[in-house]
This record gives sequence, C-alpha cells and structure tokens, in this order.
Amino acid sequence: MSKSIGIDLGTTNSVFAIKKINTEILKNAEGDLITPSCVTLKTSKLPVSKPEFIVGKHALEWIKQKPQNTVTLIKRLIGRSFNDPEVQDMITDHRLSYQIKQQTKGTQNSLAIVLNDQEYTPEEISAKILEKCRFDAEASLNDNVEYVVITVPAYFNDKQKHATRIAAVLAGLKVRRLLPEPTAAAISFGVDNIKDDEAKTILVFDFGGGTFDLSVLTISGGQFIEQGKGGDMWLGGSEIDHLLAKHILKEIANENQIDDISVLLEKQHEKQRNLFFGELQEQVEKAKIQLSKEDEACIEILGVLKDQDGDTIDIDIELTRDQFNDIIAPVIEATVQLTSKTLEDLQFSPDLIDKVLLVGGSSKIPKIIEAMQQMFGVEKVMLHKRPMLAIAEGAAILSHRLAETYECPQCGHSVLQTANLCEKCGFDLDAYTVETGVWDIVHSSAHDYYIHLENNERYLFVEQNTPLPFEKTETFKLVDLRQELVHMRFSNQVNGKEENIGDLWLGFDLNELEENEEVDPESSLHVEVTLKIDENNLIEVSAALKEFPDIKLSKTLSRGKADEQLFLSLEKLITEANKLEYKKYIMEDLLSRALLAIKTIDKIVDPKNHKVDAIACDKAAMQIEKAQKLAADEQFSQGAITYAESALYDFDLAISPEVKDEIREAVKHLREMDEHGTYEENNQAIDNLQETLDKLGIVQLLIEIQKAETICARTDQTKAYKFSQSLTDITKAIVEQDSDKISSLLDEIMPEVNKIVSADEEKIFTIHKDIAIMP
Ligand code: ADP
Ligand code: MG
Repeated sequence: MSKSIGIDLGTTNSVFAIKKINTEILKNAEGDLITPSCVTLKTSKLPVSKPEFIVGKHALEWIKQKPQNTVTLIKRLIGRSFNDPEVQDMITDHRLSYQIKQQTKGTQNSLAIVLNDQEYTPEEISAKILEKCRFDAEASLNDNVEYVVITVPAYFNDKQKHATRIAAVLAGLKVRRLLPEPTAAAISFGVDNIKDDEAKTILVFDFGGGTFDLSVLTISGGQFIEQGKGGDMWLGGSEIDHLLAKHILKEIANENQIDDISVLLEKQHEKQRNLFFGELQEQVEKAKIQLSKEDEACIEILGVLKDQDGDTIDIDIELTRDQFNDIIAPVIEATVQLTSKTLEDLQFSPDLIDKVLLVGGSSKIPKIIEAMQQMFGVEKVMLHKRPMLAIAEGAAILSHRLAETYECPQCGHSVLQTANLCEKCGFDLDAYTVETGVWDIVHSSAHDYYIHLENNERYLFVEQNTPLPFEKTETFKLVDLRQELVHMRFSNQVNGKEENIGDLWLGFDLNELEENEEVDPESSLHVEVTLKIDENNLIEVSAALKEFPDIKLSKTLSRGKADEQLFLSLEKLITEANKLEYKKYIMEDLLSRALLAIKTIDKIVDPKNHKVDAIACDKAAMQIEKAQKLAADEQFSQGAITYAESALYDFDLAISPEVKDEIREAVKHLREMDEHGTYEENNQAIDNLQETLDKLGIVQLLIEIQKAETICARTDQTKAYKFSQSLTDITKAIVEQDSDKISSLLDEIMPEVNKIVSADEEKIFTIHKDIAIMP
C-alpha cells in the first residue's frame, strides 16, 4: 500500500515524516532528520558525464566551490515575479550566490535560475528537494510514497501555493493539502498537550531560517480553528546571519585598517572570494547556534583572505552573547512588533492567549524566548520540544487523517478512514483515532481581497481571517450607458503591499443584445461578481451581466502568471487610446480587437492541468500590438465590415453579383486576418476591402444617406424622415434609370448628409471598462 507522508518544505531545511501509531520523522539517505533545502548542479569536466543534481547536506558543501551552481532559499523565489521589488532587492543585495534572470521563454514576469547556462524555474528546483524527500522516504519505508501534505507559510499567497503544487507534481507527488505551517505546529503540539474536552487559544510563533510566521489558533474538541495570522516572509535566521556577517566584516576592516572592505573582497581571486564567503556564512551560523547555549563564540577563517600586497589576513574574532544580542536587536524588535500587531489586528489581547508555542530553528535564541516571556508571562511561553521538526509532524498527522484508507496500527491491514474496528484483527480504531485526535481544520482567508473600481478605488470583498470555504456575490454597476467592456481586477494585501492576483474581462456587443431584448437606455447595466475561496485558499471568480446572465465568465485565479502581463498590456492599450482621443471608428475597431485578444488570453491557461499554451500567448501579444499599431495608423476594419455588410443587405439589388462576391470574399478574408493575421497582413486586408467597396459607386452615397438617417433617428426625427424619403426617391430614380433626377436629388441632399456623418465620425470616443459601487 502506497504511503501518505507529510513534508515541511522549509526555506532552509526540509523535514519529512509519517504517522503510524506515533509520528515518526524519517531519516534521509545521509541518516539525518533534517535535509538542508539546498540544490546544486554538479558538472563534470568530462564531456561524457551529464550534469547531476545533488540535494541536501552534500549540495550545501558545494557552496564554497561552485556558489553559482548552488541554490539556497529557493522558497523565497517560488511563485514570484522577476520584477517583484523583493526579488530585485535580493539581486542588488547580492544575497544569492546564483544568477536569476527573466525567463527567456515565459512571460516577461517569470523568473529563472541559471545553472550551467540552463534556465530552471523555482518550481523545478523545489521539485528536486521534494523528490529527494520522496525517494529517501520510500527507501526508509521500503514502500512507495504517493500522497503528501506539504506545509507552506501562512503568508503564502495564491501564486506561491500554486507554484508549490506544481513542484509537487514535478516530483511525482499528489498533494492532499497545503497546510499552513503554524497550523501544522499546533497539530503536533495539540496531540500531546491538549485534551479533547479542552479549548485553548494558542499563538504559534514560527521563526525559521527564512520566514517569520505567526498564527493564532483555537483548538477545541479536535477542531483547529485558524483565528488569524501575521508575520513577515522576509525575516528569519538568514537575516540574523546577514547582520552577523556584516558585523564581522566591519571588525575585520577595523582590525586591519582597511578603508573599504568591499573593494578588497572584489579584488580577491574569485575562487578565494567564494571560499571566504562560504566560510564566513558557515562560521557565522555556527557561532549563532553556539551562542544559544554558551556565552561566547569564535569566528575563525584562516589563510583565505589576502590584503592588497597579497599577504594573508587571518581572521579570529570573538563574539559574546551580549554583543550578539546587540547586533540582532533590530530583528528581536521586529518580531515583538509583528507579534503585537498581529494580536491588535485580530483584536486579541495577550491575556486571551493561553499558550505561546515557539517553533523553528531561530526560536531557540534565548533573547527571543525572553522577549516573548516578557510579553506573555513566563508560564505561557513554551519552546516546542522539537522546534525544527514540529511542522513536519503536524503535516504527517494531517496526511494520515486525510487518507481515505490507512494501515491498521496493529496488523497493517488497510482500513477505511471511517471504519470503527479493523475488520481483520478487530483493533479498536475509534478509540485510537479519538485518543490521538481526529481533526477538522477550519481554515481562514490569508489576506484581504479587493476588487478594483473606477477612479482607483477598491472594494473590500473578503476580509483577512474569514473562515473558509467562503462565497460572496456583489453587484456593481457599469460606469457608462453604452459600455461593452468590463474589467474586473482583483488584488490582495500582503505585508502591507497590494498584489494583483488576477483579472476578469467581460466583453459583449450591446447591439447584438438589444436585438433580443430591450435595454433600458436610461440605466446602465450591472455585473454580478462572485468570489469563492476554498479551504486551500484557491480563488475562483465569476462574473455575469445581471440583465443578460448568459454573458458570463468564471476562472480560477493565480493559476499561472502567463496571462497577467497580457492583461496589463491590454489595459495599457485602452488607457493610452483613451488619452490619445481617437475617433469613433478607430475606437470601435480597437474595442473589437480588445475583445478578440481577451478571448485568446482566456484560452492561455488550461483550467484542468494549468498548462500554458505558448502559441496562444504569442497570438494574444500579437493581437494587442497590432491593435495599437492599426489605431495609430487610423486604420480600422470593424467599421468597414459593418459598412460592407449593410451594403450587401440593404442594397442587394443595386449591386452586381460579381461585386457582391468580391465584397463577401474581402470581408471573409479581413475577418480571418483580424483574428490571425500579422499587422501587415491585416493592413493589407483592410485596404483590399476598401478598394472593393470603392466599386460600389453610387451605392456608397446611398449608404452615407442611410448613416445620416440612423444618426438623426436618435436626435432629430424630422431630419431622419427627410433622409429616409430621399433614399426612397433616389432608389426609385435608379430603378427608372433617370440619371438627371438622380444627380439633382443627390446634389440636394449630399451636403447635409456629409456634414452630419463627418460630424459624427469626428466625435471622440472613450472605451469604458470600469465598474462602480451601487449607490
Ligand atoms: P526553515 O523553516 O526556514 O527551513 P528552520 O526552522 O529549519 O528553518 O530553522 C533554520 C534556521 O534556524 C537557520 O537559520 C538556523 O541557523 C537557525 N537555527 C538552528 N538552530 C539554532 C539555534 N540553536 N540557535 C539559533 N538559530 C538556530
Ligand atoms: Mg520552517
């Protein structure tokens, strides 16, 4: 029977575990409980051997020799865009030993890690870590591992979670649940410490190597209710290491009278420099860990660094616990501030917290424990017995709980999750599961979720910490009476910053709708927007016109970043066109091109397997670019097509069969080019239709009169009637072949017609796409 395990896929360390009767942390191939989340690509000088990925402890050893091929902290990059300010900060800060860049093949926003000239996505690198967990777990269990619960920071947004799922798929694992890390820690704590009839509110304080996660949970009757969360996903032990390293560099500069140590470091031979940074990192971390137990530690790097003259600078610096505490004071202060803020946001005072559970490697720092004790009182604060393993334990417990079947703890027979007794050996499964807690986990929304309205306003759709699953429908009104495009942009607020999480664009043809049903000309249409969030924080949005419910669309957000950039360019195209004050025909053309592009963009991400259709991506980009260029050229096809079609329909008898065929052919071709053609081909097809339409001769004038009639029908009935009468008279003269009469009638009416039509065509047209809150 294949196994279900739990994996704590940590920023610094990963841990995997399984629950049988007790929860057991599984050893990796190296015999350790903790696997560094480090991946290196080992290349060989021999052309015959292929590059090989190494994960874990042995990968970490390569950081000194081949830092550019050794990836750490990948969790900070997963699900992020290259242009994220945080990612850019990591690049400018030189915090990564390896190169990251914009992905060549993906959308402009995706990022790639470059190893040995090859690009890898963060998902692919994370998959290597998960794969090692799976292989090593399989070796340890002597069975295959199929299902998994993977823990993620409570603060992970939907993109980051989605990317984590992809990594699991690449590693051949089926994800039963992505579990917030603090909840996992609480589960592992609850097992031994909370009785079934007790209700306790606990604050989980998870301070690891890369993230600081806070979560308030109430545990009651086997239920874990997430009350809320906070923290900072950029704060962890690596910040402490960074501060320590900075301090050590300053000390080296002082002791050796070096003006600018960074210049000296730049001048070192690359190999020596890598070795120095690797040693420094290792020593600093070792000293930090030592200072959790002892009062002094020493940093010693001998024979690596050279001064300007090539003489060796030996480093031997002592660090006391007091100095250490001073250096890391800003980090301690930040954790205290974030803890108070999280409680304030949740309107919890410290006395409502029954227990503060500290987990994560950095929680072992005595000053951290002290700071929490000061805030909550000594007796409430508890460092988990296994602070670096607790999360994997919780994941394993849930993984066991979510399995449809599991192995009877007594005889190993496969039993259903719902069974009370083992049918083979009669073991009392109920007593066993109740005693060890069968839980229900009540998840809550990770963030505030907004929908954007006109004038840069936004509407709070879901508040952070709302119990999940959640569903809500709101009605908004369109901002313009003749609006045919609705743009709904969704965002969330993470660490005080707004993040775009997806777009819905709804487009429709008002004229077409009016053919079937009356539209009240005095009142704008409405759109009903529904936002659904499931237990995994996966968000589905849907929108439908209230007056025409068939015009609808729904989509799971953050499924891939592929469409994000395209929607942004589409928005830019419309905003800029509105600013340029294009005329009606051009704008109508632009609008119909925008609708075509939206259709293509909506097809990019396959809703089933989330695969990105690269061809559709290119096509949409081309459609948007083409729309922009054609508008700038004042070229339009939509107007010409409508013109051609009404000519064929209304003046059928007045056009020769050959010309009709030519027009039909030209329209068909143009339609095709609008959708698939390049800018040049599209342009050519427009010209081609124009040339064919020129063959209409007098019919062109009749169409102009008809246009004037339509324009006046809305404003001046008498004039409209006059034009309609004139049309009838001219048509009659045409049938009678009375060319004098035709001329005189035309001479009489055309000046006025031309004036009205061109005035209408000169009108500036704005594409509206926003929504507004109902009064
Ligand atoms: P993550 O969840 O980010 O993978 P862990 O919970 O495994 O991280 O913690 C790793 C971090 O804890 C590292 O930054 C490590 O240096 C730090 N750490 C481990 N033990 C101690 C200790 N005794 N004192 C201080 N920091 C420690
Ligand atoms: Mg962790």
